[in-house]
Amino acid sequence: MIPGAFAYHRPKSVKEAVALLADLGEDARPLSGGHSLIPMMKLRLATPEHLIDLAGIGELKGIHADGGDIVIGAMTTQHELIGSDLLTAKIPLLREASLLIADPQVRYVGTLGGNVANGDPGNDMPAIMMCLGAIYQVTGKKGQKRLAARDFYKSAYVTALEPSDILTAIRIPVPPAGHGSAYEKLKRKVGDYATAAAAVVLTMSGGKVATCSIGLTNVADTPLWADAAAKILVGSSLDAVTVKKAVAAAEAITSPASDGRGPIKYRTKMAGVMLARALARAKSRAA
Ligand SMILES: Cc1cc2nc3c(=O)[nH]c(=O)nc-3n(C[C@H](O)[C@H](O)[C@H](O)COP(=O)(O)OP(=O)(O)OC[C@H]3O[C@@H](n4cnc5c(N)ncnc54)[C@H](O)[C@@H]3O)c2cc1C
Repeated sequence: MIPGAFAYHRPKSVKEAVALLADLGEDARPLSGGHSLIPMMKLRLATPEHLIDLAGIGELKGIHADGGDIVIGAMTTQHELIGSDLLTAKIPLLREASLLIADPQVRYVGTLGGNVANGDPGNDMPAIMMCLGAIYQVTGKKGQKRLAARDFYKSAYVTALEPSDILTAIRIPVPPAGHGSAYEKLKRKVGDYATAAAAVVLTMSGGKVATCSIGLTNVADTPLWADAAAKILVGSSLDAVTVKKAVAAAEAITSPASDGRGPIKYRTKMAGVMLARALARAKSRAA
């Protein structure tokens, strides 16, 4: 289908983009890679009258270390995440998960900022950002603010962003050296969104879990941070009995839709299976 008519704007700075969004109000939407927004417009599920293309804003690009954090510009593509030596060394979870998103054509254009700002529970990066304790740096008409990924997602396609807000960067605390991580994603075919997926970051000490964080994708109308499940695992050796308890706790907070990816019970169980696999793999990678 052909999208409805819209005006196209290409600001050169974040300040200019925010001013446009503030002036044009709810009829305007930021455009990053367009690989979620344009399909929605073609289906007439989104009908913005103004698109504010962020592609001409250089300050939104790049990946750099800042103290104990890594800061990733919102317009950094998924392909650039995969190619970053800094990320591969410090937060290998991001490369692993990016390789499971869509296909190379989508990843060349789709951005990290668009993926996390979109609010689609099927997007992979939001649960990973919750797992990692990421902070979203945002600029809007009232100035700059920082929003925790864990508080950002309100319901499907509803986030803490206000209409004039632009997500400028994603700030991620580097997990401790020797941590283990994994992203396990069940999908019907290559390039598909998750039927269920689980992200794990953990540290081990003396054969026991010292710290653990878990994120779940596409098993509720928002991404999920499974904190209670992670707490069950701390102090354990990831023995079968404790993993089973943690899996049950994680499954208990899911509420997936019954759709083409399967009925509710199946998708709930698959969230548990993905979590158990991610825990085992993360442990095998931890020093
Ligand atoms: C065939 C196909 C398969 C896909 N499979 C997957 C998959 O398996 N997993 C997955 O995670 N994704 C998948 N995607 C989605 C893809 O990763 C998108 O690129 C991504 O979700 C959105 O990024 P974008 O840069 O394209 O954002 P856009 O489509 O440009 O924007 C998405 C939304 O976020 C808003 N937005 C964008 N940038 C900002 C910003 N800086 N500040 C504030 N708001 C902003 C827009 O206004 C819009 O509402 C798939 C897409 C396609 C076409």
